[in-house]
This record gives sequence, structure tokens and C-alpha cells, in this order.
Amino acid sequence: MDIAQIKMRALAFVLNKSKALSHKRSSVSQSEQSVKPKKLSAPHESLREEETLITFKPGCLSFRCNICGQACLVKVSELSREAAFCKSCGSTMRMRAIIHILSTELFGRSLALTDFPVKPDITGIGMSDWDGYARTLAHKFDYKNTFYHQEPKLNITRIDPALEGKFDFIIASDVFEHVCPPVSIAFENIGKLLKPNGVFIFSVPYSKDEETVEHFPELHDYQVIEADGRYILKNITKSGVSQVFENPVFHGGAGLTLEMRLFSESALIKEFHKAKLNKIKIYKDSDFDHGIHWDVDWSLPMSVRAS
Ligand SMILES: [Zn+2]
Repeated sequence: MDIAQIKMRALAFVLNKSKALSHKRSSVSQSEQSVKPKKLSAPHESLREEETLITFKPGCLSFRCNICGQACLVKVSELSREAAFCKSCGSTMRMRAIIHILSTELFGRSLALTDFPVKPDITGIGMSDWDGYARTLAHKFDYKNTFYHQEPKLNITRIDPALEGKFDFIIASDVFEHVCPPVSIAFENIGKLLKPNGVFIFSVPYSKDEETVEHFPELHDYQVIEADGRYILKNITKSGVSQVFENPVFHGGAGLTLEMRLFSESALIKEFHKAKLNKIKIYKDSDFDHGIHWDVDWSLPMSVRAS
């Protein structure tokens, strides 16, 4: 889809919204006039307020953030995976997509997080989930966010057997590219932690190449060293060989979270199958209501289910 088509779709979306509101206003006021002619002010007040939330601007998409509920407006040409367009909560398209997928997989439709039913019987964990949705998930479900470096800890390459088969859902958004190799163990452990048919909501940056590129395939005893503003990674392999890697890639800022690999889509699918994770769904479709529109076919969020 080219940019002109995207703009047309966004324009159609905004116009449809405006029509829907206009129709709603008309039908409410007619019904109020016929039944309660003296009580027009209150419904008109609230409709005027609602109307201001849906703004029309050519080439822009008006949407509602499915994490905080705020009305947002964005130039369609500027929508991207990591840009924080919600002025209220700072959600990115990736974060809204994670909630869109979770809702679709759990409830069969795309609800805003604030409209999720409270279901303490649903168990889930996040792996370094964004706090902007983790806090609300903890109110809705029996859900706990976990971390690699702080409590509550979860090392996905070495899980507690007591947790196996306990979870209806697990979320890992842009985490697996940082897991130490071999990453296959992490996928296998996701399969073990989930209940049968439990869902894994997953995203990583990935390419359309044939194979994943492992930056440090023999990582074993390693340290990252900074010298003169530059970083190097020193590694001693299991067989005792010394290795030096210059200019390793970090996410979140220099020296922070080390990128271990660049996944490829086809290699990811092989990893899922190997870990007995099936029903792979790559969420390519737009959800204009919630400001989600992918104009690329790589690094898309997805869901898979345990056998
Ligand atoms: Zn928001």
C-alpha cells in the first residue's frame, strides 16, 4: 500500500467516525425532543465534549489509545513502531499492538485495556513489560511483571519447574533479542510455562532474511568494557578461546541492553515449531481505531499458542 492509499484509508476512517457521531447526535436529540423536550442541555453538552475528541485533519489519523483511553491525532505518514504518539501515556504503536493482540487472543475482540473485564482466574506474566500497561494488567488478572536483573526475577533460560504449566498468557515484547545464546532454550521454556493452549504475545525486531544473525554465538564468560567512549565486548568461549567484539549494539542507550542477535522471520517460525508453539499469527492488519497501522512487513508483533 502506498502513502496515498494509506492517507485515503485514514481519511475514510476519520470521515466515518464523524458521520457516526453526527448520526448519534441527531438520533439522541430527536428522541430527547419527542420524549423530554425540556432536558436537552445535558445530552448536548456531553456530545459536544465527545465531538471535540474526534478531530479532522487531512492526512491525519484520529484514534483512541487502547492503553489509557486518550483521544490522539497523528500524521499517518509519521506512524511508526517506536514513536510515542499518545500524549497522555506515551504509548508506542508496538505497545498498543501488544494490548490489541492480548485482547483479541483472550476475548476474541480488540478492547481497550481499561475495558478489560476483571478476571483473577486468568494467570499471566510479563517479561520486562512496559509499566504503562503492566500496572493495569495486574489489576485485571492474576498477572505479575518479571525482570532479568531485579525482583521479581525470571531467567527464561533457567526456569523454576514449579512454574511449568501455570500461565494462560506470557508477554515478551522486544526482549528475546537480548537473551543470551542459545535462544532456543528460551522458546522451549515459554512452551513449558504456558498451560496447554496458553498464548505467547511476542515481538522482536526481525528481518526477512533466511537466518537469524547471532552476534556472539559462543558467548560464555564475557564482559562489556568502555574505553574512551567506545565499547568492546570481551568473551572467553567454553573451550577457552578469547574473543573481542568492537562496537556491540545496545538498545535503550550506549552501554545498556546488549543486542545478542537480529532474528529472521523464517528462523523464528522454526524456533516456535521446535518449541511446540503453534497457531502462529503475525498481526499485520491495521487497527485504525487504536492507531495501529503497519507499512512494513518485518518486526511485526505476533502470537503463538502452546500445544
Ligand atoms: Zn495512551
